[in-house]
Amino acid sequence: SIMPAALSAISNGARNGVLYKGGVHLENLAHINAIAFDKTGTLTNGKPKVTDFLVDPDADENELLAVTAAIEQESNHPLAQAIVLYAADKNLPELTIENMQDVSGQGVTASIQGVQWKIGKGDFVGNEQSRNFMGGAAQGLASEGKTIVFIERGGIIAGLIALKDTVRKETKQAIETLKSRGIYTVMLTGDNETTAKAIAEEAGLNHYIAECMPDEKVKEVKRLKHHFQQVAMVGDGINDAPALAAANVGIAMGEGTDVALETADVVLMKNDLPKITKAIQLSTRMNKIV
Ligand code: ADP
Ligand code: MG
Repeated sequence: SIMPAALSAISNGARNGVLYKGGVHLENLAHINAIAFDKTGTLTNGKPKVTDFLVDPDADENELLAVTAAIEQESNHPLAQAIVLYAADKNLPELTIENMQDVSGQGVTASIQGVQWKIGKGDFVGNEQSRNFMGGAAQGLASEGKTIVFIERGGIIAGLIALKDTVRKETKQAIETLKSRGIYTVMLTGDNETTAKAIAEEAGLNHYIAECMPDEKVKEVKRLKHHFQQVAMVGDGINDAPALAAANVGIAMGEGTDVALETADVVLMKNDLPKITKAIQLSTRMNKIV
C-alpha cells in the first residue's frame, strides 16, 4: 500500500517535474550510493556540431562530404544529424547509396557505385590506421572533448570529422551536489577514451568508462551494484534502456527516446538534471516521515 507520505511526495514530484512510476522508486532513491550517467544527451546537450573536417590531400573533399552526408542521412544518431546539417548548405551532389548498415555504438557502412564506405569511431575503421591518420590529428581534437568520426573509402581512411557537444550548463553543479551527498558518479559512454576523459573532467565526475558498448553499459551497472549495492542509471537513448532496466532505479531524461521513457522508473521532465538531487532529498525526507 502506498503511504500518504509517499502519495504527497509523488504529487509534489510531479509538480516539480519529476515523474515516479510507483512509490517504491521514490523510496529507493534515498538509498542510492552510486549513479551512472550516459554521456550524450544526458550530461551533454546531445546536439553536437561539426567543428573540424580534415581530408587527406589525395582525397576529394567534396566527394567525402557528399558521401558521408548521404549515408548519415539514413541514420538517426545525433552525430549523423549534425553531419547532415553541416553538409546541407554546401551544394553537394545527391547520391544514391546501397546496403546501408547502422552499427549501434560504432558507425555506419554503405556502398556507392561499387565503392565500400565505412564511417565511425576509430575502433570501427581500424585502430592503427585511425591513430596514424594525418600525423595523429585525432588525438589532439579528442583531447578538446571532441568526438571523432573517421571516413574510410575502400578500406583506406580518407578523412575525419570532429564534432563537439557541449556539457549542459547545469551538469557540473548537479554532479557536485550529488558527490557532496556521498554519491559516487560515473559516466558510461561509447565514445573514445580521450574524448570521454575530457568530458568527464569538465563535468567533475568521479569516474568514467569509455568505449562502452550498449551491452557493456548493462555489465557496468551490474558491477557498480556489486560495489555500491544501490545504483541508479540516468540515460536518454534506445542504447541506454537495458542499463536503465538493470539499475535499482532507472532515470530517463524527459526528452529522451520512447524506449528509455518506457523502461525508466523515474522520468525527469524537461531533461532537468538537478532534479535528481531534489528527488533524492524528497525521498530521504519522505522515508523519515514514514
Ligand atoms: P554515446 O555513448 O556517447 O551516446 P554511442 O554509443 O551512440 O555514443 O556511439 C559511440 C561512438 O560510435 C560515437 O562516439 C561515434 O564515434 C560512433 N558512432 C555511432 N553512431 C555513429 C554514426 N551514425 N555515425 C558516425 N559515428 C557513429
Ligand atoms: Mg545518450
